[in-house]
Amino acid sequence: NTQDIKIVLFENVNIAAREILESQGYQVEFHKSSLPENQLIEKIRDVHVIGIRSKTKLSAKVLREAKNLLVIGCFCIGTNQVDLEYAAKHGISVFNSPFSNSRSVAELVISEIIALARQLGDRSTEMHNGTWNKVSAKCWEIRGKTLGIVGYGHIGSQLSVLGEAMGMRILYYDVIPLMALGTAKQVSTLKDLLEQADFVTLHVPELAETKDMIGAEQLARMKRGSYLINASRGSVVDIPALIESMRSGHTAGAALDVYPSEPAANGDYFNDTLNSWVNDLRSLKNLILTPHIGGSTEEAQSAIGIEVGEALVRYINSGSTIGCVNMPEVSLRSLTLAEENHVRVVFIHSNRPGVLRQVNSILGDHNVDKQMSDSRGDVAYLMADISDVNVGDIRSLYESLEALSSKIMTRVLY
Ligand code: NAD
Repeated sequence: NTQDIKIVLFENVNIAAREILESQGYQVEFHKSSLPENQLIEKIRDVHVIGIRSKTKLSAKVLREAKNLLVIGCFCIGTNQVDLEYAAKHGISVFNSPFSNSRSVAELVISEIIALARQLGDRSTEMHNGTWNKVSAKCWEIRGKTLGIVGYGHIGSQLSVLGEAMGMRILYYDVIPLMALGTAKQVSTLKDLLEQADFVTLHVPELAETKDMIGAEQLARMKRGSYLINASRGSVVDIPALIESMRSGHTAGAALDVYPSEPAANGDYFNDTLNSWVNDLRSLKNLILTPHIGGSTEEAQSAIGIEVGEALVRYINSGSTIGCVNMPEVSLRSLTLAEENHVRVVFIHSNRPGVLRQVNSILGDHNVDKQMSDSRGDVAYLMADISDVNVGDIRSLYESLEALSSKIMTRVLY
């Protein structure tokens, strides 16, 4: 019953999410900030759903106290603040919003391409300091220049379309072959891209293979007078090598939104007690430094609220785990739940031999219309739509599944 679903939202989760959840009839409690651990534990004891952003730590110690918990929504990109493995082993699904801010990042990069080509950052700083310095030397239009996109995923592909609309030639490099948008061309090596691009922009994930992907050797391969933009992850660029390349004049400008280590909170000083290279960066010309704001827009915040809010509703009402970060992705298309004598069974269980045989012998008294099951590590997720079920059968069906030793969580939706 939707009115019985209790939700607690922390950290001022976007209003769009609250509206989606309230419109389902769920009971939603809202908190502007995160809570200290002891108060957090009291708040979550009997709730079915927890919504957080990055500051609320849902450790095993905290989750152990949430006896009715079905699902966690992280209204942000990262999920490190949640013990994902503990959650999976206890049947608690976790959702996040990895791609709602892609467009915001792409737009920031577009602004940086023109700003670097025209040395906007330097001119603006000079004017703030009272200096009029009208120059055209080494300032360029971007029309007809080559944009090299490294990583042609959600952000890289958006940039491809935007860059082409501004008259740029687009090249991209990715580890998998991907369909080119517009007249963009995929190149087969990073070297090919670096040698041809006037602007190189990085949009790869943080992985062992992408660590220091752009170092001294790659910067030297880039054209003299070219530009580098990094709004992916701080580990991707070797910053001391970039400093050297800019000092020598080989790299004409760069924009950095991400750093190998970043201050924990606004106002914390970005200084060299953390990083020996900070003062060097601050002294360079035509270098745009931003504090990890690529995805920070009002639109991205509301898109995150909608994406995660809708994922929670789908999970609560229909058991679908599409987009879940710690469970196998399972969903059944046709939902005949509204029909009489139909129920959907969700059985989350330990992934070991013989379980499906036991489950099917329990479901076998009814007509199984559709069934899907998948596993991820030690945890498996089974969903079955069954008909010929009388209201009186539901309890015994539930109890038989709950009695299986492999059981992690049973849900019967109708
Ligand atoms: P995505 O997963 O959609 O795309 C990444 C692409 O990189 C994929 O196509 C993948 O095949 C490719 N790739 C992986 N390894 C590669 C390699 N070694 N060489 C070349 N290509 C490789 O990711 P996305 O949403 O486009 O995000 C890209 C990056 O931007 C991520 O690092 C993400 O964390 C970061 N990001 C930053 C901000 C910000 O605020 N600055 C906001 C959102 C995302």
